[in-house]
Amino acid sequence: MELTELVPRRERKKVMRTIVCVAVYAVLNHCLREKLFEDCEGCVIDAPGQQHHDCVTWTSIDINCKLQGLCADLCLESLLNTVIAVGYAMQCLCLTQEHLAQGVTLINAVQFSGDPDHVLKKMTKPEDACLQRYIDRLVRTKSYRTLLKKKDYL
Ligand SMILES: [Zn+2]
Repeated sequence: MELTELVPRRERKKVMRTIVCVAVYAVLNHCLREKLFEDCEGCVIDAPGQQHHDCVTWTSIDINCKLQGLCADLCLESLLNTVIAVGYAMQCLCLTQEHLAQGVTLINAVQFSGDPDHVLKKMTKPEDACLQRYIDRLVRTKSYRTLLKKKDYL
């Protein structure tokens, strides 16, 4: 898919489905990277020695556990904001109930899978690489906490 081409009206729904899919991937991937970074004190203070890094001991089970937690905490409204921003920028914004359900289904597919990280990595197709780079750049400007549900700590 070329981002500069105008999307024909009849293809808007389909393109929006691709945007939802890539947005779910980009948001979860970004949250996971930031979460992994934040959870390792050595990464946060940029310590040179491996002995300061908890991250070197994390297994795929630890990483999947963090990813599942992020799926549970993901704020749908923030995800939709991303989808709307991209749809608008590409002049193909058309959001239906179907797209919302698709987003929830994709998040659930990651969260309740036996190997969430694997499901996430398989979510996008090679032909969507261009769109993926675009959405990645957009999502990366946001602190991952703003993409999660607001927690009430009182
Ligand atoms: Zn580290």
